[in-house]
Amino acid sequence: MPTYNFSAGPAVMPKPVIDQIQAELPSFQDSGMSIMEISHRSQLFEQVINDAEQDLRDLMQIPNNYRVLFFQGGGTLQFTAAPLNLATAHHHIGLLDSGHWASRAADEARRVATQVDILATGTDNHFTALPQLQGPVDQNLDYVHLTTNNTIEGTMYTKLPDTGHVPLVADMSSNFLGQPYNVTDFGMIFAGAQKNLGPAGLTIVIVRDDLIGHAKNLPSMLDYQLFAEKQSMFNTPPVFAIYAAGLVLKWLKAQGGLAAMAQRNQEKAARLYDFLDQSQLFNNPVIPSDRSTMNVPFMTGDPALDAQFIAGATDQGLLNLKGHRLVGGMRASLYNAMPLAGVDALVDYLATFEATHAK
Ligand code: PLP
Repeated sequence: MPTYNFSAGPAVMPKPVIDQIQAELPSFQDSGMSIMEISHRSQLFEQVINDAEQDLRDLMQIPNNYRVLFFQGGGTLQFTAAPLNLATAHHHIGLLDSGHWASRAADEARRVATQVDILATGTDNHFTALPQLQGPVDQNLDYVHLTTNNTIEGTMYTKLPDTGHVPLVADMSSNFLGQPYNVTDFGMIFAGAQKNLGPAGLTIVIVRDDLIGHAKNLPSMLDYQLFAEKQSMFNTPPVFAIYAAGLVLKWLKAQGGLAAMAQRNQEKAARLYDFLDQSQLFNNPVIPSDRSTMNVPFMTGDPALDAQFIAGATDQGLLNLKGHRLVGGMRASLYNAMPLAGVDALVDYLATFEATHAK
């Protein structure tokens, strides 16, 4: 029986990438050492990290005036690093409160003495719709923080807010590389790897040149300028995670790049939403225009029935469908590496369950 992993992260990886890692694990490029054992200062690894950066630049069409940095510490560390590096003029940012991860970012920015203005919030509708700007943004803000995809709530910005000259800083952790965005619409993009890119332990930062180098006396491990100067090798980088991410980037190119991924992701998501919208038993609470193609929460409204559904799904090889504890119910994450067949298997099981458990 095939298994499909619907986890929100760490999440499904492309099968050919897992196979390649397995095949070359004992001896990377005939070196007699595994990728986990080679020096990060070796030519072998230099090639790996340079290829990864170039492939990412190709896929996202990242212009030359943007730095690509490889960090550790997850998306969460960037909630601290972004204000420390970029909120240097006024120590004052704006934020669109689109859910849990946006409010975590606000909390962490405040911890490093940054004033955070909530420009709009989804609290009134329990985050079932995206908060939108109601008017022009104060042009003295250092930047506006936006969570492009809300992993827990299942919402996603496809149209970006107009912030005038104020740079947008995007937490793209859960829809990184799932569709094209125009990099020049952002001052900075960051994403933890473990959803759409590779293993946990790697975080990508893409930042415009002119925004960095203004902060004084930052801790070295948080300093974008220093990481840019040292080509992300200020200390030992997460060698294995960068290698695996590099293989995923090559896989993405072979799939036809981000436009092709967007098309596939839309098709997968549409199959699931179409089922949920006609269902008498299951419900997705998000307004259709704001729905995520990556994370789809749904529920019956009866926690006991939800638990029964999840147990039955697990028996069918449909794994990790339990919803986030803040929302309850179920959540299916449909990242790039989830095949259409996985979504079809889920929809089949939903239909079977509904037929036998109609309200
Ligand atoms: N931002 C978003 C949108 C997320 O979904 C997550 C984790 O799920 C994070 C940030 C935190 O990421 P990390 O665990 O890599 O720190």
